[in-house]
Amino acid sequence: MAKIGINIATGSLQQEEMIVGIDLGTTNSLVAIIHPESRKPLALKEHNSSSLVPSVVHFGEHNVVTVGEEARKFLITDPANTIFSAKRLMGKSYNDIRQNADFFTYKVIDDNTESLVKVQVGDRFYSPIELSSFILKELKARAEHILKTPVTKAVITVPAYFNDAQRQATRDAGKLAGLDVLRIVNEPTAASLAYGLGLDPAQEKTIAVYDLGGGTFDISILKISNGIFEVLSTNGDTYLGGDDFDRAIVRQWMKEHGITDETIRTNKELAQALRLKAEAAKKHLSNHEVFIDSIDKFHLQITVAEFNKVTAELVNRTIECCRAAMKDAGLEVNQIDEVVMVGGSTRVPLVKKMVSAFFGREVHDELNPDEVVAMGAAVQADILSGNNKDFLLLDITPLSLGIETMGGLMDVLIPRNSKIPTRVGRQYTTQKDGQSGMRIAVYQGERDLVKDNRKLAEFNLTGIPAMPAGLPKVEVSFLINADGILVVKAKEIRSGVETSIEVKPQYGLTDEEVEKMLLDSITHAKEDIATRALVEARTEARQLIDTTLNFIEKNREFLTEQEITETMGAIEGLEKLILSGNKDQVQGAVEALNNLSRPYAERLMDQAISMAMKGKKI
Ligand code: AMP
Repeated sequence: MAKIGINIATGSLQQEEMIVGIDLGTTNSLVAIIHPESRKPLALKEHNSSSLVPSVVHFGEHNVVTVGEEARKFLITDPANTIFSAKRLMGKSYNDIRQNADFFTYKVIDDNTESLVKVQVGDRFYSPIELSSFILKELKARAEHILKTPVTKAVITVPAYFNDAQRQATRDAGKLAGLDVLRIVNEPTAASLAYGLGLDPAQEKTIAVYDLGGGTFDISILKISNGIFEVLSTNGDTYLGGDDFDRAIVRQWMKEHGITDETIRTNKELAQALRLKAEAAKKHLSNHEVFIDSIDKFHLQITVAEFNKVTAELVNRTIECCRAAMKDAGLEVNQIDEVVMVGGSTRVPLVKKMVSAFFGREVHDELNPDEVVAMGAAVQADILSGNNKDFLLLDITPLSLGIETMGGLMDVLIPRNSKIPTRVGRQYTTQKDGQSGMRIAVYQGERDLVKDNRKLAEFNLTGIPAMPAGLPKVEVSFLINADGILVVKAKEIRSGVETSIEVKPQYGLTDEEVEKMLLDSITHAKEDIATRALVEARTEARQLIDTTLNFIEKNREFLTEQEITETMGAIEGLEKLILSGNKDQVQGAVEALNNLSRPYAERLMDQAISMAMKGKKI
């Protein structure tokens, strides 16, 4: 149950823990929530300002750090101490970015080319994780200021193509900023969620998410079924975006006014002014036919038709990426059910037109393309906070789930990283004749012995009708539903008796605990294999002792005194070894006992057959 608290600042009731959604972007970042009353996603903004926080960090004198709009002003006046696009460095080594090193106007350390990059500012070194954490801290502070409540939990989005190292780096940045990162979500998944796609578990859809931002382009093809998002393919260009559109306009104006490259290189002020006017023109042309302005003596004008002409080539490049992504996904365009537009540059009418033409359908552009990813992250955050019980939780199981079997072994039913919802069943049987109950103990973890894993629940299946050992069929099923709740059921199939129990596996384990459990399973792998083998040998030995004793009991009259004494002696020896012997000794004694009983077992079997044959007329 969500806790309700009273907001001291406003006196109103509110949830104690508001989980926010964060879009940590290359150019801009922002934070969104689900509005507690309207239940709609809302990008947070201070009065009259934009929801976007430029992803720029400036390091001033006396270690004064500024982030966002304030910091952006220093991009021109103090480039060496102003860090932008830190996201491009996340989880990368210098070798990874060598080709684009010119892009960065600040100092990226290049002496240790294999290890993760650092940025040098004055005499200090910052990792991309630290740089991102400054942006996240700013977003956290902004959210706290607007919501008037502490914000400690967040869902953060990353590009679909981010690898594990990059995702981990993003998580760490969150941690450094004082945020508990509950989930890392793919940006295209978040954008789809913002449009309500994938919220209905019955829905099956294939979605293209076209994301054209300021400096990057991504196309992702997703498939949703059973409430699970699967990335079928991704493509894009990490150096193609709205900035290129601006440059195309600048070039057009330079041509018209005979401004040379040399002038642009030397006259930084003019270059900057032209760039800003070009961006203004581009935005203006998204809903006007012509843009007219001037800088000093230069009359600056451009029509939509001219703009389309100089940018068609850029848009075409994105379409080629879409084509490649479709090919990789193994799909034809008519198999795409929805097209979602993300990123400020998708406001350009030519972009919408060409994307719509390529996919042969209308695109989703109803939501603000700059805010849609953060809004989707907020939708996910809301689901995680348990406010939205109707909706599914898109998740995988972080650790394996299973039950305890003979000898304290872990029998895994749902391996870790399984997608949820999921359902698995397996049959077990009784060990003893007439056994009427069965204890089902549920564990989570990667170790072979349940004692090293985490116990989640235990219950008894009772009322199994009396049957010889091995005859009852007890089906144990694990069902993790869309809310992440595990239901364990045990049912004896012949009689139909059944019991079940509900467990919440995900909750209560921190990332560190999950990590530790995984690490433990690796460190102890060898020892676990040995223990499992010993436990299995002991179990087999106990079963053999039981059946042998049973056999002697039933057939005492057909056995010689010597056979009985020898067998009892061997059993005694085996019992001792079960307690103190190693695996090989136990297995050796099992074999010895088998060798001892085989001759008389076979003799009795032959007798029984010949008796049976005698009675029959052929
Ligand atoms: P993002 O990285 O998603 O924040 O995208 C920012 C990019 O969107 C920048 O290149 C902006 O110039 C561009 N942009 C913002 N608004 C508009 C608009 N109305 N028309 C065209 N481009 C825009």
